[in-house]
Amino acid sequence: MTVRVRYAPSPTGYLHLGSVRTALYNWLWARKQGGSFVLRVEDTDQGRSTQEAEAAIFDSMRWLGLDWDEGPQVGGPHGPYFQMQRLEVYQQFAERLIERGAAYRCFCTAEDLKRARLEHKAATGAEHGFRYPGTCRERHSEPDLPHVIRLKVPEGGGIGWNDRVKGPLEFALDSQQDAVLMRNNGVPLYNLGAAVDDITMGITLVVRGDDHVINTPQQILVYQALGEPLPEFGHLPLILSPSGEKLSKRHAAVAVADYRDQGYVPDAVLNYLVRLGWSHGDQEIFTRDELIEKFDWEHVGKTGSKYDLKKFQHVQASHLRMRSPAQVAAGAVPFLAARDLTAAADDPRLVAASELSMPRATTLVDVAEAVDYFFREPPERDPKAAEKFLKPAAAPLLRQLCEAVTPVEPFDRSTLEAAVKTWLEQQALELKAVAQPARVALTGRKASPGLFEVMEVLGRELTLQRLQSAAGDAEQATDAGA
Ligand code: GLU
Repeated sequence: MTVRVRYAPSPTGYLHLGSVRTALYNWLWARKQGGSFVLRVEDTDQGRSTQEAEAAIFDSMRWLGLDWDEGPQVGGPHGPYFQMQRLEVYQQFAERLIERGAAYRCFCTAEDLKRARLEHKAATGAEHGFRYPGTCRERHSEPDLPHVIRLKVPEGGGIGWNDRVKGPLEFALDSQQDAVLMRNNGVPLYNLGAAVDDITMGITLVVRGDDHVINTPQQILVYQALGEPLPEFGHLPLILSPSGEKLSKRHAAVAVADYRDQGYVPDAVLNYLVRLGWSHGDQEIFTRDELIEKFDWEHVGKTGSKYDLKKFQHVQASHLRMRSPAQVAAGAVPFLAARDLTAAADDPRLVAASELSMPRATTLVDVAEAVDYFFREPPERDPKAAEKFLKPAAAPLLRQLCEAVTPVEPFDRSTLEAAVKTWLEQQALELKAVAQPARVALTGRKASPGLFEVMEVLGRELTLQRLQSAAGDAEQATDAGA
């Protein structure tokens, strides 16, 4: 049987790391099995669902490269893929459940329910634990009156399944109440919507967060009442904060888009998330193809994993270095733009500068920061570095250095290095006498990649111009402390 998995977000906010991990595991499984990955939007909570949230989910998934085979924007044979466009389908299934005696219309008013709740409290002394007492189970049906549709949970017995992640799970039916399946306005509640969609969309494996374990018995009852074959189920433990609570905004950036904005690359986000709850020996770094090849349910952990920013950064840095300089350069362009710098993604200077930055950068933001001086004219100077190294005594050295490198041909790191070495020997100078003033002249900073690499990437014209201009400034500097 072809594997069909799905991801069914509710568009009520940004795409959270935990939800992405659910999407990712499903996606990996579909890709590994040559199956289909279906995206379905569960937008029945009309008060909280928004189009912006929908767009944010699609954007984040596209950015991550989690492409879907069926769903919004791409269509498919089981659409529509928005629940609010499927109300007729739910209506038909609700009627079918009623016909089969597995559901019933409930005419209880809010008042009736309030009264029943108070009675429960009086009888048990407990605020919580109220279960609908089944008042309308045997009531004569009058479809014209306002009503909801409730599941008629069979009495006695239990519901169990062999969870792909958690192993065998079993719930006693008397722990289940006759939950509402459909509101009076014809909008289904989650359990009806999800089960009907999973049935009609031919889903073979349902994997979601383990906050839904409690819903699965009700959904299984719907399948059973309809005589539909059960899919497999799997429930993923939560992602926890470093201190073991449910991960929330208080602990970390939890929206995928925040990581994009902080200059993380998609493969690093996927790699980090997959490892938060799945392992393959002690391997930490995976390419996307390796993940598809190696992912399995057997090694998904049964308990929550803790979010760890340091590890995330490590994974991000590793993935940055796995990219080609051209890819890193292209990724850095928007972050340069954020610094008011313009460069084309294939600008050879940007590609070369990005390559120089890669050994020390963690994110694309770091890359943009590191290559800034290659594109800013004049480069921004660290005032402390300038004060320390661009003193009058440095001026003649910078001028001579300028002369020494002017004729160098080709203007590349090794030829530059050889020419400067000859000049230093002639002058009986050491590189350190000129290296820091030159660095500040060329980059504005105290620390940078090797001087000759910087010169090569800057090119002759900018190198000479910056050395001259810094020599001029050094001459003008007051020689305090010299
Ligand atoms: N809309 C539900 C959620 O976002 C989906 C649960 C499921 O996958 O069945 O939690």
